[in-house]
Amino acid sequence: MATIVEYTDKKRPLNMYPKRIVSPVKGKACCARKMEQIGGIEREGERSYFYRRCRACGYTVRHFLSAPPPDQRSGQWENELSYLLKLVG
Ligand SMILES: [Zn+2]
Repeated sequence: MATIVEYTDKKRPLNMYPKRIVSPVKGKACCARKMEQIGGIEREGERSYFYRRCRACGYTVRHFLSAPPPDQRSGQWENELSYLLKLVG
């Protein structure tokens, strides 16, 4: 299943989940704090994910779920946050 997210800076951000989401191409500083889940868990092949969208700028990512490392309960979330911050920084 293809993503419903269109990444463009030529259109205004739009949330028409589950049909369509228009997202800016890049995240900004706001995204690390303002991301919220949209809709439920979806599946693509072996992987499950949900969409997360920034309330401030509309930047949207697919958040893939995987078993977190045993020694790090919130591993996946932390990893993505630092990834976002790298994009910003
Ligand atoms: Zn943002």
